[in-house]
Amino acid sequence: MSAMTKRLVQAAIDAAKSAYAPYSNFHVGAALLLDNHEIVTGSNFENASYGMTLCAETVAISKANSDGQLRAIREIAVAGGLAGHVGAGADPITPCGRCRQIIKEVADLTDTDIPVHCAHATGYTTFRLSELLPHGFGPANLK
Ligand SMILES: [Zn+2]
Repeated sequence: MSAMTKRLVQAAIDAAKSAYAPYSNFHVGAALLLDNHEIVTGSNFENASYGMTLCAETVAISKANSDGQLRAIREIAVAGGLAGHVGAGADPITPCGRCRQIIKEVADLTDTDIPVHCAHATGYTTFRLSELLPHGFGPANLK
C-alpha cells in the first residue's frame, strides 16, 4: 500500500461523513487524486425522488470539472457502507454502472486506464477502469 493511496482511500472514507443519504442510509465517499497531488472529494447526495440521486464519484468528478481540473484526475478512491461503517465491509465497494461510464469519460480524456481504489475492512482493492468497464463506450466512439 503506498502512502499516497492510503491517504486517498482515507479521504474517500472521510468524505462519506458528509453524505446526504436519509433514504438508504448508505454513505459513499469518493476521492480523486489530481496530477498536482491535490485531492478532490465528493459524497453521495440522495433525493426524495430516489432516481435523481447523485453518486459520490459523480459529485467529485463534477467538482473537479467545475474547478477546471477534469483532465488532471489520475486516480480515484471509493468507500461506502451504512452510516458509521463506511469502508468496513468485507468486500470492496465498486462504482455503479453509471459512475463507471462517467469515469470512462475522464479515462478517455486523459488517455489513462484510471486506477480505482475500492475500500474494504482490510484496506483497499485496486481495479483498473478497463476491468470495471470492459469494452466501454467513450468519446473515441463518436469520432
Ligand atoms: Zn454511481
